[in-house]
Amino acid sequence: MPNIVAIVGRPNVGKSTLFNRLVQKRDAITDSVAGVTRDRHYGRVDWTGREFSIIDTGGYVEGSDDVFEGEIRKQVNLAIEECNLILFVVDVEMGLTEFDKEIADLLRKTKKPVVLIANKVDNPARLAEAADFYQIGMGEPFPISSINGSGTGELLDEVVKQL
Ligand code: GDP
Ligand code: MG
Repeated sequence: MPNIVAIVGRPNVGKSTLFNRLVQKRDAITDSVAGVTRDRHYGRVDWTGREFSIIDTGGYVEGSDDVFEGEIRKQVNLAIEECNLILFVVDVEMGLTEFDKEIADLLRKTKKPVVLIANKVDNPARLAEAADFYQIGMGEPFPISSINGSGTGELLDEVVKQL
């Protein structure tokens, strides 16, 4: 069974930025598979000798009223089916939204392990805001900044531990 990690979350939380940082080279965003799985980007990560595949979901159009019912639900469910571990990304700049809660409800239906990630924790002052996401009921959020890389090493340690 290959190790596959899927990044899910509402638009603009920083999924693609995290994906780019974890695969460590921007040109690793390669395959856009046509059809149902369009715009799902796959990359490889090697962390201290442990290798896994990573999927960046989120090829949906923003601003559409039925964006959740349509594309997001489909993408989250596909990711759940395909992966061994889910990285559920939320955003401390925007704070907790209804959209986040809906995705959390979808993820709760799976037996697959979920790591909750509070992204955009660019400085220590934002750590307290990250803790707010505890109320989503998916454990202690992992504070990271995909922009400056803080916390991503610890996140990778956790990912390879859970795979
Ligand atoms: P996606 O829609 O979830 O894939 O989100 P993107 O990766 O496209 O990022 C959405 C916006 O958030 C972009 O403007 C990013 O530069 C910004 N962003 C992503 N990660 C961080 C972060 O750690 N800190 C801050 N301040 N901004 C971020
Ligand atoms: Mg994206």
